Amino acid sequence: MKTVLVTGGSRGIGKAIVQKFANEGYNVILDYAKSDDAAFTVAKEFNNVVPYKADVSVKREVNELVSFATERFQKIDILINNAGISSTGLLQDLSEAELNRIFSVNVNGTVFCTQAVLPQMIARHEGKIINISSVWGMVGASNEVAYSASKAAIIGFTKALAKEVGPSNIHVNCIAPGIIMTDMVSDYSVEEFDEIRANIPLDKIGSSQDIANLAYFLASDEANYITGQVISPNGGWVI
Ligand code: NAD
Repeated sequence: MKTVLVTGGSRGIGKAIVQKFANEGYNVILDYAKSDDAAFTVAKEFNNVVPYKADVSVKREVNELVSFATERFQKIDILINNAGISSTGLLQDLSEAELNRIFSVNVNGTVFCTQAVLPQMIARHEGKIINISSVWGMVGASNEVAYSASKAAIIGFTKALAKEVGPSNIHVNCIAPGIIMTDMVSDYSVEEFDEIRANIPLDKIGSSQDIANLAYFLASDEANYITGQVISPNGGWVI
């Protein structure tokens, strides 16, 4: 039985990833930052999902999360670095505190979780790490410069780490979603969604399941010759 650790798993894309792996019989550790209610509601649907509260931007909490997960299920086979926050506004108005907040969750969180699981993956000569970036990390977004930069950092992290740990048979890949209907984009107006959709060849906004399905594939043995790649499910929006 394989075990997957999903960060930010209580809602949105993370929740869909948790549900996909749980339905397929994996043991799942659902990391969440704040809402006990949301996390336990997702976990309650399954007998193989265990919630654990940890802020990924705090190294000590991440280390405790990974120790807990490893004790509970003996090993972690797959890490999915999904937890993330967005931020909009002009770069000139970006405060130091906000810049640090974005990078500490999106970048430091990804690095801390990966550092915590790597020793056991290297020892077992096996493991899969999937990082969630964004199309904005590939092409950049006006008004979301810091977010775009943090997501571009995740792409660089993925490529470099794939080279570093490939010899240990650890696969590191990146999913860079286009626009996906979750709470993260809930402040977009109907007009904004229509405008975006008009530029998406498949003429639809993505769903969390679209991302969960790709994460599941990348975690499977079917993807055993894929590493260091950025795959962008975006309906053709960014090609
Ligand atoms: P969401 O806001 O619904 O989910 C983000 C999750 O991360 C939440 O559960 C939140 O509690 C958790 N989280 C935030 N800070 C955390 C922390 N410090 N520690 C642990 N968990 C934390 O948004 P989503 O759309 O599901 O986003 C999931 C990922 O997908 C993010 O990395 C996001 O940047 C990325 N993404 C989303 C879209 C989109 O259009 N929705 C597009 C591209 C990339």
